[in-house]
Amino acid sequence: MYLSDHKYTPLTIHSAVIGDVNGEISAVFGKLGALHAKNNFSFALIVGELFSSSTTEGTSNDEQVDSLLDGQIDVPLPTYFALGKRILPDKVAEKLTSDSGELCNNLFFLGRRTTTKTSEGVKIVALGGAYQSELLDEKTSLNEYSPINTEADVKVLKGANNADIVITSEWPVDIRTGSQVAFPGEETPVAQQSVTDLCSYLKPRYHFSTSNSFFEREPFFHSRGEDESEYRVTRFISLAPYGNPSKQKWIYAFSLDPKADLPTTIPTGVTASPLNFNSKKRKALEADPSSYSRFGNGNGQSQSRRGKKARQPPPTPQQCFFCLSNPNIASHLISSIGEAAYLTTAKGPLTTNDTFPALGFPGHMLIIPLEHSPTLGLIKDVESRQATTSEMHRYRQALYSMIAARSKDAPEKQKMGAVTWEISRAGGIHVHWQFLPVLRDMATRGLVEAAFKVEAENETYPAFQTSTASDNNEEAEIDGDYFKATIWADGQKDKIMVLQLDSSFRFDLQFGRRVLAKLLGLEKRMDWRDSAQTEVEETADVESFKAAFKEFDFSLEE
Ligand SMILES: [Zn+2]
Repeated sequence: MYLSDHKYTPLTIHSAVIGDVNGEISAVFGKLGALHAKNNFSFALIVGELFSSSTTEGTSNDEQVDSLLDGQIDVPLPTYFALGKRILPDKVAEKLTSDSGELCNNLFFLGRRTTTKTSEGVKIVALGGAYQSELLDEKTSLNEYSPINTEADVKVLKGANNADIVITSEWPVDIRTGSQVAFPGEETPVAQQSVTDLCSYLKPRYHFSTSNSFFEREPFFHSRGEDESEYRVTRFISLAPYGNPSKQKWIYAFSLDPKADLPTTIPTGVTASPLNFNSKKRKALEADPSSYSRFGNGNGQSQSRRGKKARQPPPTPQQCFFCLSNPNIASHLISSIGEAAYLTTAKGPLTTNDTFPALGFPGHMLIIPLEHSPTLGLIKDVESRQATTSEMHRYRQALYSMIAARSKDAPEKQKMGAVTWEISRAGGIHVHWQFLPVLRDMATRGLVEAAFKVEAENETYPAFQTSTASDNNEEAEIDGDYFKATIWADGQKDKIMVLQLDSSFRFDLQFGRRVLAKLLGLEKRMDWRDSAQTEVEETADVESFKAAFKEFDFSLEE
């Protein structure tokens, strides 16, 4: 057989990764050989300690080390071993120096801080040793066998720009955030921010480390860089030691195709990266778990009407369906992720593919802050509050542009405007904007405004305060809880309608949807649960939306 053209043929590489060997060298290579006979691995990786602690003083006459160096232990396939946190036996270091990293046939040293490309083209970045924030003596020089790493090493490794595999002796900080996988070990492995930085910078396909127990996190996707249209997904796997008493996995077979296309949408079963979030923000949340309920006291009008039922604690960001750190959010609905906010299609959209022929998809969207906060005003950090609000406006502006472009050549009766509504309650969970196109005609003729007013009257709500947006698009901050609707039509200033919420009446959280359902003749779809779509339909809508939104999506800009 020969290749008839130069088309790329998928090349999946099968490999095995091993945790701490702890000096059980011949047993481990024996097992690896047996597995290799069945699986035909391309190479193997030893990401933990190859040598036992008794050999680390450099004085050992450990038989296993001697046998290995003498070539009496068969290394069945090309195997790369990492530097752990132990000092290598002297004779090992000497042999590695004299044979430039090859310890014996088929066994190669990855080194303390290295980038290696295997003959299959797999790029491995390894950072061995324990992190040390400052060297005790600035003049202490580290050599390639020193089981220590510093910030400077991480900086150097970032120069690799990317990697298929990252190997570190220590864990990334926060790796378990947003994961539902239990870690069975008693001791939580040492975790370092520098490892977090390295992993989030290099965005490898696999990140391997070691721990007393086996741990495999749900894969997670990294936020895209400005010039990236694809998502990079990392699988973090930490191996247990060979011969551990609870028979946890110490060897793991994996495969990868270093040339495979990256996904352009977020694959299912994948969580947001636990490593990307601004740690300062999250610390503020963790430090004050009572903040949501505290703000809710006194003015949580709907709660007070629920009678004697004990109040449920508010969901944490990991349970919140608008927080990207929740592994159960419907990630396939996410359409764009910015720096402070993101955009998703609505689950159970009010509109359908047929509602707006000039669109061809529902266009019912949610603009959601990345930060978990019940209202925009309650985002504590002033800078992130401003960044969040301004990016939400930017997303809305981009949606306006898309709608205007779609309306341009459409028949007069199909031209569109839009309505955005927000429920801002201190006792709420995670503030967001709902965005829905409407017929332009309805917006300009005051029908949308009237619809809100009439429905509020039907409900005997207090009156709306209506105003016109200023030119600079800055909105006055509103005190207290409120419902706000913003009505837009191309070429006109936004009309802003505010309904102040207080304990004198019970506000229906579905009010905005109900008004627009009646206005658009979609009463049957009033309840989003009656408008549920299959995941295939949802995904198709997301794709249609993204295709239309692409040229307006600033998160894709370089
Ligand atoms: Zn949230």
